[in-house]
Amino acid sequence: MSPEGMIRVRRVFRSFLNNENGSVTVIVACAMVLILGIAALVIDVGVLYYNKVLLSNAADAAALAGVQELPGDHGKAVGEAEAYAMSNGVEEGHVAAEVLPDGRSIRVTTSRLVPLGFARILGFSSAEVTASAKASIGATKGLTGAAPFGVVHQDFVFGEVYTLKYSPSNKSDDAGPGNFGALALGGRGASNYLDNIMYGYQERLEVGDEVPTIIETEPGNMAGPTVTGINSRIAGCTHEPKCTHDRFVKGCPRVLLVPVVDSLNVKGRSGVILTGFAAFFLEDVGGKGNECEVTGRFIKWAADGDLGNINDYGVVSCRLEG
Ligand SMILES: [Zn+2]
Repeated sequence: MSPEGMIRVRRVFRSFLNNENGSVTVIVACAMVLILGIAALVIDVGVLYYNKVLLSNAADAAALAGVQELPGDHGKAVGEAEAYAMSNGVEEGHVAAEVLPDGRSIRVTTSRLVPLGFARILGFSSAEVTASAKASIGATKGLTGAAPFGVVHQDFVFGEVYTLKYSPSNKSDDAGPGNFGALALGGRGASNYLDNIMYGYQERLEVGDEVPTIIETEPGNMAGPTVTGINSRIAGCTHEPKCTHDRFVKGCPRVLLVPVVDSLNVKGRSGVILTGFAAFFLEDVGGKGNECEVTGRFIKWAADGDLGNINDYGVVSCRLEG
């Protein structure tokens, strides 16, 4: 560029600076505020979102832990929920749990004061993030893994021994001719019955809402498969010390989930109505030869299943709500 050209450029540049200096500063200042504002939004909103997810997960876990103690001990339910929230990263004093008036639900609220970075420029030094969760417990409406025995609808007493399968010489009047308490779940015959004792019925069994769920009884004494199946269940408890009805490991094969039915006083292979589920801790398979009888102690059990507005025989499920 010629010296004259250089001089002209300088002159133009200088006149631009002289004339526009103030405006440029304003534009740059405005742009900086805007950029920092956006940065504040992006970074701080990210931090707040991260904390919200964390608190929400902690509230869910705490509500589910607490609800397992219901409908019994409210204090224990609250304590369990708060301890669970704290073990999930919530600080002491920032978790509140309460059992709702129905006695079957618990609400857990978690909170945290989150310090902010860029948003300080806009005048926000911190923000309180909260999350809450409600969990309810109710009678289980449906489940998989049911044992092929039926017990008749009644008020079960915790720890009492009940007969799940009768022997021919000790048959209750509850069971009609040819029936010994066995059910045909998903098929008929001894081998299907044996599979169902050993592994539980693999399809889902559900109490009907408007149309009742009908289950067929499995007539016959079937001593052989009963003894084989029950002994395999009892031997399957490898827990140390061995499980008992008042202290057992969740998922122990000695726990039987048993369909509750309206009646067993039917003749031969007949349909009976499923009214709910009860859980029994397998005590014994008693009797010799054909005189085989299965007994279990009634226990409370939290199953993985839907919760329904049905008869509560002690097998319960939990549900999380927002
Ligand atoms: Zn066990």
